[in-house]
Amino acid sequence: MTSPTPPETIAEARTRILSEIGESVTLVAASKRQPEARIEEALAARQRVFGENRVQEAQARWSERKEQVEGLELRLIGPLQTNKAEEAVALFDVIETLDREKLLKALVKAVEKTGAAPPDLFIQVNTGNEPQKGGVSVEDLPDLSREAREQWPGAVRGLMCIPPAEEPAGPHFALLKKLADRHGLSQVSMGMSGDYALAARLGATHVRVGTALFGAREA
Ligand SMILES: *Cc1c(COP(=O)(O)O)cnc(C)c1O
Repeated sequence: MTSPTPPETIAEARTRILSEIGESVTLVAASKRQPEARIEEALAARQRVFGENRVQEAQARWSERKEQVEGLELRLIGPLQTNKAEEAVALFDVIETLDREKLLKALVKAVEKTGAAPPDLFIQVNTGNEPQKGGVSVEDLPDLSREAREQWPGAVRGLMCIPPAEEPAGPHFALLKKLADRHGLSQVSMGMSGDYALAARLGATHVRVGTALFGAREA
């Protein structure tokens, strides 16, 4: 009788994913709804860049660790309400989901008020024009990008997208990369568990991987 292959550990999955994406791409560990033991396992495997979807969940998980873990980088990859802007700038190094002028203004104000280090920003683009999804439309991207440059020079570093689940991701990734080039932005956050290798080939600088790294999320 052959014994079943033991499941991959987080350290093994991380090594495999890193080899698939190559050295120039950053693995963002999408840690929403993952148990604490797995976060510890990822940290022990030297993972330092984490993406979180919700400000409150991220605060509970990272506020203390932020002081203790060397080299930690926290990225907000979920939608942000303007009334959470102060908490967000206090915790996150990077906010990937800027998608409207009102949020830009709230972030500028939050940094002024709290004296927090200004986060780097990515503009989320709704490449599939999905009504329920966050992100600025492709048509409105130039205005938002210009506005951000004026109000906060240097803050916007890249673009981010989440393609429609039911469509092939390739064309969305190619479009996002093209838009980033057009706007002179060098960083591109795209690709999740099912398509991070494709995203890396199409120019991602950051892939956001949850289940392929950690295993299935808690309900
Ligand atoms: C959850 C999430 C991910 C990771 O999803 P997986 O399919 O588990 O890799 C990436 N990006 C965003 C914005 C997410 O919400």
